[in-house]
Amino acid sequence: MTITVKTIWKTQKDDEVCATCKALDGYTWSFDANEPYPKQLIHPLYGPVYDLRPAANGSLIKEKRGRRCRCSLEHQFDVSGAGTDEDSRSDKQTPSIKIVEE
Ligand SMILES: [Zn+2]
Repeated sequence: MTITVKTIWKTQKDDEVCATCKALDGYTWSFDANEPYPKQLIHPLYGPVYDLRPAANGSLIKEKRGRRCRCSLEHQFDVSGAGTDEDSRSDKQTPSIKIVEE
């Protein structure tokens, strides 16, 4: 069984969001839940974009004046390698329809 932690960058999707964060909106990082969670989120293009340590300020993106991005992170957990039997079973449980011929 593998548990994957997915971290998704969410912006407020309005005019105050800077260009960098707009580009990051919806970007997803995937981590193995068995590994220690990283201290920073690294984006292939923008480099370190978020500091996850409790004492840190969060977003590392230098925002231009007049911008207030208020970006947040959404965390999702994906479990794979378990429950596959259940999935295939529920697929087969189609309601039986009786056709009555007159
Ligand atoms: Zn921003």
